[in-house]
Amino acid sequence: MDLKPLQPAIDGQRVVITRELVEKYNRPGPRYTSYPTAPNWPKDFGPEDFERHLQAGNKKGSPLSLYFHIPFCEERCTFCACSVVATKRHEMAEPYLQTLLQEIDQTAGLVDKKRPVQQLHLGGGTPTYFSSAQLEKLVRHVQKYFSFSDDAEISIEIDPRVTSDEQIQTLSRLGFNRTSLGLQDFDPEVQQEAGRIQSEEETRLIMETARECGFKSVNIDLVYGLPKQTPEKFRATLKKVLDLNPDRIALFNFAYVPWMHAHQRKIDEKDLPDGWTKLRMFCEAIETFQNAGFDFIGLDHFAKRDDELSRARRNGTMYRNFQGYTTKADCDLIGMGVTSISFTGGAFAQNAKKLKTYEEKIAATGRATEHGMSLSEDDLLRQKIIHEIFCHQRLERSETFDLYFEKEIFALKPLAEDGIVQITPKEILITPLGRFFLRNVGMVFDAYLKAGDGKFSRTV
Ligand code: SF4
Repeated sequence: MDLKPLQPAIDGQRVVITRELVEKYNRPGPRYTSYPTAPNWPKDFGPEDFERHLQAGNKKGSPLSLYFHIPFCEERCTFCACSVVATKRHEMAEPYLQTLLQEIDQTAGLVDKKRPVQQLHLGGGTPTYFSSAQLEKLVRHVQKYFSFSDDAEISIEIDPRVTSDEQIQTLSRLGFNRTSLGLQDFDPEVQQEAGRIQSEEETRLIMETARECGFKSVNIDLVYGLPKQTPEKFRATLKKVLDLNPDRIALFNFAYVPWMHAHQRKIDEKDLPDGWTKLRMFCEAIETFQNAGFDFIGLDHFAKRDDELSRARRNGTMYRNFQGYTTKADCDLIGMGVTSISFTGGAFAQNAKKLKTYEEKIAATGRATEHGMSLSEDDLLRQKIIHEIFCHQRLERSETFDLYFEKEIFALKPLAEDGIVQITPKEILITPLGRFFLRNVGMVFDAYLKAGDGKFSRTV
């Protein structure tokens, strides 16, 4: 195994990552798609609490980001960490759609119509499990109740294996302008292990159709750390991905957590690349994408230099939510569908995670909130700090900041000695080397993290 230090260039600056440094910091930790993280949300938060916070959001008048979860997939990929119902029984889609329409009716009645929708996202599962007619019914229903701003981002996750040209044409006619394509890796052996066989041809054809239909931006999702993946195989995948010419790329670190996702037990741990090999693949991908004209965004995203997301990163307006990095800051998120999460009026709310429970609750009351959390002043402050770490890698210091976070600043000193952060009298900067340890920096500001908290995936 090649144990030489890794030396990728980040934003034009070469950094040195040693094996010792990785061993020191590679420990279980949250990915911070939310703060406080979902395991800390209490169970005694129900539909009435969610409604109260929706009303609080109305008072503030923030724009909206709407999310709809379509949980079905024909088969479950072995690496998947999404909330999925694996079934080939497509007749399950129609009752689910009807439940979703009911939830939209109920929710729309509580939201001020003047609040513009700046973002709508269909995620899953596989949103194109819905037929063209079902997708149209869903979107027309949303359009009936909510008003969209002219520059709204309307996006959908697409699985090229099960999406037809007709569905893409329908989505385009309905106003969809962004899409994210699942891919993960092109290598046949890795695809076999991942339980997801997807040819280059079907991926290329779906991208071409999306572009012909006027989609402004196409994102590709990749995963590193999959079983049987090697730096050589992944290098070949990166080249093929660049040939497809996406606008954005999300490169996720595979989280092997079989104690949370039982289907991951199908993976033989011996087939997984070790942490150091994973990091080599990640570093090579960063260099490859940067050399091809992409900016490295936050934790694991890449966007072409003239893409809106890159511009938002440069001018400090980029934001991060459950769907990843976005240009639409300050939106209240309203999630509908099984397991979906909302963040509105200073509170998280999550719908029932089991399909049957979700459908029963919506049928009975129109609401399915199962748990959530109303954030305290301290939570909101730390949420903002973690957001700054993941989006802009900079914290501004002040007398008040220093007093409030005295303990945390002290805890950052070893990270400063290791070159991960730089502490000056005016600010705390995450260095280019620190880009590999964002989760470790975030953990310093996490008031809920307990010592030895092993439920999360590893940070590097
Ligand atoms: S298609 Fe996507 S959501 Fe469905 S099982 Fe595979 S990775 Fe998970």
